[in-house]
Amino acid sequence: MSNTTKSPKNFEALAAKPATELHKEFAEWLFIKTGVKVDLKTVQLAVSFRMDFQASPENQASLADRKAKAAADKKASASRKAAKLEAKLAEVKAEAKPEPIDPVKMTIVYTGMGEPQVHKFGCADLKKMTRKTGASKETVTFHSHTELTSHIYADMIEGGESTLEENYGGYDCKPCVGKLDS
Ligand SMILES: [Zn+2]
Repeated sequence: MSNTTKSPKNFEALAAKPATELHKEFAEWLFIKTGVKVDLKTVQLAVSFRMDFQASPENQASLADRKAKAAADKKASASRKAAKLEAKLAEVKAEAKPEPIDPVKMTIVYTGMGEPQVHKFGCADLKKMTRKTGASKETVTFHSHTELTSHIYADMIEGGESTLEENYGGYDCKPCVGKLDS
């Protein structure tokens, strides 16, 4: 009754026992199913001690090693992924940054009727305008609507009649001009 401590298994003595019918049938079955001719003693030992091996400190230690390695691999893979994403994000950010707008050479047409028209210099529509009587043209190079406004409405702004804000973009800016700064 007092003998509750399990005595350690004597593996050598157990291994010296003869193979059982089950071991023989298992070895035969393995051969039929897999085509591999297995050694009967190996089958006996594997069947008998598989659980002991799995529970052994040796196996537990190597299991812990494998787990730690898998966790380290996963972490490394995650940081590689994160670095890749960051690089991609930087790329996207660089692409999204608006490009500075180059100055555009434009022709302003004062038709004498309505607001002045602004075309890109060399626009085909300008040819028709020249035939119009009373129309005057001038060529300027600007990169913003603020510059255009202060130029076209200079008289009114400088004379104090109206402000830049009031005149801002008041002209008829044609699509041929393209994008300008504000
Ligand atoms: Zn045009």
